[in-house]
Amino acid sequence: MNFNWIEYETIDDSAIALITLNRPRQRNAQNRGLLVELDEAFAAASADDAVRVIVLRGAGTSFSAGHDLGSREHLAERVPGPGQHPTYLQFGGTRAGVERMWGQERHFYLEKTKQWRDIQKITIASVQGPVYAAGLMLMWACDLIVADTTATFADVVGTRLGMCGVEYFAHPWEFGFRRAKDLLLTGDSLTAEDAYRIGMVSRVFESAALVDSTIEYARRIAELPSVASTLIKNQVNEAQDAQGFGQALSSAFALHQLNHAHWLMLSGGDATVQTPDFGGRDRSTQRPVVPTVKSRARADDPQPEV
Ligand code: ZN
Repeated sequence: MNFNWIEYETIDDSAIALITLNRPRQRNAQNRGLLVELDEAFAAASADDAVRVIVLRGAGTSFSAGHDLGSREHLAERVPGPGQHPTYLQFGGTRAGVERMWGQERHFYLEKTKQWRDIQKITIASVQGPVYAAGLMLMWACDLIVADTTATFADVVGTRLGMCGVEYFAHPWEFGFRRAKDLLLTGDSLTAEDAYRIGMVSRVFESAALVDSTIEYARRIAELPSVASTLIKNQVNEAQDAQGFGQALSSAFALHQLNHAHWLMLSGGDATVQTPDFGGRDRSTQRPVVPTVKSRARADDPQPEV
């Protein structure tokens, strides 16, 4: 298969499919072309009966820094012209008002992520570096997450864009209910160690070992009879669904669209998120993302005098 934004290969007589996001210079930011190719790769791995485990990983120093909001390639595929990605004229892309964004985000961010979560194979996200915002969505779609020691996890859209979280709102299940509020309201991150402690991450490997140890881990799981591994996955996903996961995702997505509509209305249709004109911070004055720590309001603030 020929891809521009990702790589697809299989190993171990096709028992393991490796899908690699391949925009390392943009820290694997998700542009439309990448998401469409990722969907094709997941479909190919799903259709191939030899594949038992799918590993999703990112080239370079970061698994995925989120949606692509500003690269040259992103702009070229968005705006009308020869480089426009055809899907910008589908799935609500030609409609007006809130309907346009609703349709596009529903298809590419909510429905696709849910579909990937329910692929009938075991999926493993192998992550490193900052995994921010929509980076979390891709990772959360997978059954298992392994990380290296450089990995940090944050949804910064609340503190940076005036938004109530990314489109696939799995935060309460992944972080825990109160921790989800803390992380969204502060924009702080979890370290790989923290993520292991709360059960979001299954293994934390040294950076130099991430690639090999991920494959070793995938091999262990590929040894199970596929009927057992698939039913284990479905049982757990259905338990989560019985807790109201799907309903909560759907409600959160509607609130997410309300949030976009708010900024669109205030900005007269110019901006879908908070901008400096409406109280947002520009990039130069944004404080860095810091890990959440137990004993400080913010990890890099000085310790208060006592
Ligand atoms: Zn959105």
